[in-house]
This record gives sequence, C-alpha cells and structure tokens, in this order.
Amino acid sequence: MHYLDANATEPLRPEARDAIAAALAVTGNPSSVHGAGRAARRIMEDARESVAARFGGRAPDLVFTSGGTEADALAIHALGAGRRVIAGATEHDAVRAAAPGAAILPVDRRGVADLDALAALLATGPPALVCLMLANNETGVLQPVAEAAALCRRHGARLHVDAVQAAGRMALDFAALGADAMAISSHKLGGPAGIGALLLAPDVSPIAPLIAGGGQERGRRGGTPAVAAIAGFAAAADAAGDASALAPLRDAAEAAAVACGALVCGADAPRLPNTTCLALPGVRADAQVIALDLAGVAVSAGAACSSGKVAASHVLQAMGLGPLAGEAIRVSLPWRAAWADVEAFADAYRKTAAALRCARRDTPGRQTPGRQAG
Ligand code: PLP
Repeated sequence: MHYLDANATEPLRPEARDAIAAALAVTGNPSSVHGAGRAARRIMEDARESVAARFGGRAPDLVFTSGGTEADALAIHALGAGRRVIAGATEHDAVRAAAPGAAILPVDRRGVADLDALAALLATGPPALVCLMLANNETGVLQPVAEAAALCRRHGARLHVDAVQAAGRMALDFAALGADAMAISSHKLGGPAGIGALLLAPDVSPIAPLIAGGGQERGRRGGTPAVAAIAGFAAAADAAGDASALAPLRDAAEAAAVACGALVCGADAPRLPNTTCLALPGVRADAQVIALDLAGVAVSAGAACSSGKVAASHVLQAMGLGPLAGEAIRVSLPWRAAWADVEAFADAYRKTAAALRCARRDTPGRQTPGRQAG
C-alpha cells in the first residue's frame, strides 16, 4: 500500500515509538508527590518545554489536550467567552462545531481569507474572537495569519490559530505570528493520536477549563495526563523538521494528474509542500478514492473526521468550485514518502481517470461525494 493520506494521520515516527516505550516503563501519576510521581512529572515537563520551544511558545503557556479538536474547542470556550466569534469559511469541523453561530469570513477562489472582509467585520460590533487556520487540511492553502493578527490587535479582537496541519510541515513560530492561541496535534506530525496542545499568549492565562476535574494543567484541563503519549508527541515534534523536501514529489504527483485532466484546487495560493487537492471534472470523488485504493494507493475525498459521513466539501464550496467540490481528492504525502509512492500514484491515477471517465459516459450525472478523515 502506498499511503498518501498524511493529513488524516502521519505514520508514527521511530523516535516517537521509542519515547513512548521508555515512558510506558515509568509507573507514576505526575500529580503524585513521591519519587515515582516525580519521575512521570519530569517526563511530562521536559516534553512541555520541548514542544513549546519547538513552536515558539513558553512552557507555562502550553496546555496538553487530547488532540487538535479539544485544543480548538478549549480556545474557543476560553477566549471566546463574552465575545462574538468570526471563523474562516474553510475552517476544520473542530472549529466549526465549537463555534456554531460564528460569522463567516469568506475566502477567494484560491481559498485565501479576504482580509478586507475581516477588517469590515471587525470594524463593527462588540469585541471578537477570530478563528483562522494556518494551513487547510484539504487543500494545504496557507492563510495570512500574521496580517490577520495585526488587524485583530488594531480592533481589540483575539485570534485563535488552528495550526494542526502546519506544525511539523513548515516554519512555525507562535510568538512571531502574534496570535492569542494556537492548536497543534501530535498525530499530524508523526506522534501518537489522542494528544495535542493549546499554546496561549503570555497575557491570556489564566483561562477557564472545558474540563475542570482535578485541576491538572494548572487548572486549565482536568484529567490525569497521558504521559507516554506526551513523550511521543515531544519526540515527534523534535524529529519533524519541515516538509519542504516533499515539494518536488508533490509537484510530480500533481503534474501526472493534471496531464490526465485534473484541476488543482488552490493552485495559485501559497500551500503546504506535502498536499494537493485534485478535482477530476465529472467523476465522483468517492469513486476515485475507491479505484485508487483498489490499485494500492490510499488518498481521501471531501472533508470531515467521521466515518461514513457523506457531504460535499465545505472548503471547496467556499472557494466557489461548484460541482468540483464533489469531484476532488486529497493527496497528502507523509514524512517518509518516496519517489516510488509518486510513481505508483501516477500510474494508478492514469488508469483510474481513464476507467472512470469511460464509466461516466455510460452513467451521466453527478452525485454527492464521500468525505475524508482529517
Ligand atoms: N484541525 C485541523 C485543521 C485538522 O486537520 C484536524 C484533524 O484532521 C483537527 C483540527 C483535529 O485534530 P485531532 O485529530 O488531533 O483532534
């Protein structure tokens, strides 16, 4: 199997596997005062230092969570209290579900947020919390987050950045971004799933927890911490440089698909180096995913983190791509991708496009696509 679905989850890095195994050998609750507890706490606090430093934050301002979804929800809960929420039109469901009444910040055809629209939204109404993702999970399109942060400061608004897909794939410095909060997730950078973090600006703490429990994480997130997962997260974050070496492979995969008639969604925007979103006009996305899977290539379609959910991609719809929103697949190269994966994809795509185009001539009409994880 050629695994090209890294934006759903990255393969576990060996450094993370080793760190998890070492931490699992330590028995102790980090809240306990005895030596065993202190040993567990040391693993956790070393990891906190290392993850915070890796992404331009301060250790005391980093809250470990169960992943990106919880980090987004915590940010919106804590920073959005008493504020109206403005969310980018292409935000992940983790943000959309946590801010159901949010005003929507439109994007252009490239998928890039309209900063004039943001300025207009901020100019009227009570203080806001703006949610703007750094890199989109479906298209890889990058948002002008630093510019948005400057606008937010000017208008007394707060900014939460979902950097789940960006962390480990591009240079990322929380302090330099000028945001108030930033969500990251371990399994998108080669660590285990089920662990992530929210980085807070120094002046934002203390925050109200979503889960109060026993007051762990300085009262910001209750529950006994997952020490082994935290250790694996830190090791993966350390090992993940950026994904720039994947750009030539991504470009080659893209070129092969374009030669078969595919369109690249968000092609003219700055994008993550490992991601491409390829629409094949007139061919359902789920049919493409299934055909590629049968050919031994794992990619995904549409959007959404739950299995069996069927709906068109809100990201591609927001970009004004109309029916193409149901005809696009996402190819996202993992950290360990090799040229053999790209060659396998190109070969499988050529056969898939040819076969499905013939099938489409037999059964015309467009239908709703399946959706993807992550
Ligand atoms: N934000 C983005 C942009 C994502 O792509 C995802 C997961 O796919 C999440 C948040 C949720 O992260 P997690 O799977 O760690 O809950």
